[in-house]
Amino acid sequence: MTEPHDHDDYSHFHLGLNSLLNHIVHGNQNITAEEANAMKGVQQPEVFLICCIDSRFQPDKALDYGPGVALEYRPIAAVVPPVKDADQAFLARMAFRRLKDVNNIVIIAHSDCGGAQASINVPKPDLVNGGDLDIVADETHRTGLDVTKLSQEFLKAANGDVRAAGNHLAKDVSVQSLKNLLEYKGRGKHATIADEMKSGDLHVALLFYDLEKHSVEQFDLAKGVWEPMVGFDTGAPAPKAPPPKPAPPPP
Ligand SMILES: [Zn+2]
Repeated sequence: MTEPHDHDDYSHFHLGLNSLLNHIVHGNQNITAEEANAMKGVQQPEVFLICCIDSRFQPDKALDYGPGVALEYRPIAAVVPPVKDADQAFLARMAFRRLKDVNNIVIIAHSDCGGAQASINVPKPDLVNGGDLDIVADETHRTGLDVTKLSQEFLKAANGDVRAAGNHLAKDVSVQSLKNLLEYKGRGKHATIADEMKSGDLHVALLFYDLEKHSVEQFDLAKGVWEPMVGFDTGAPAPKAPPPKPAPPPP
């Protein structure tokens, strides 16, 4: 595979590389004094965040945090494989989480997920003879779920609506990712993440973020159900008071 070497090769992007680099120059001017301070110091992140690669989801905006708060890991569909199948890149990130003593982990799945929809569209990905879509579609299978079966069931239940079926699959995939995560090595004296959680030394949350509504559901691991986050501002405009009636004409 050859690397693109001149500007024309980037022409299929909405944003050319030159204007992207300009964004960096001008974006630097938007960094607040508070953010600049946080960037200068030693990082002591509060949360290890696992969310999808999707470019529409901006975790720092959605969760409203600045620099120094979150270690971000962004695999397709926020997939966490069982520990026996983990790749070195993820194991190293988990080691970094332990070194930095990060005591919160948040997994965020999202609506309209391309990774989940690829799995719906290609229920039996072929990594040998298939193309790029097969490679993307295969990611959700790394959770260990029977995605081939689930994809077909969800598509049938949604009357062929790939988007709706994908949302169901994205949720199931994230729940399995959470279950897989529990088996990974814990920090300090804890053998596993599950032990770390039980001791109260670690808090773990699984969320589903709706890209259209900006609403969030949280998965209750004990009950095994998704629940809307209580007290969450949906961003919907407040109902308007009816306009005042025009004053009667002067007599
Ligand atoms: Zn996604």
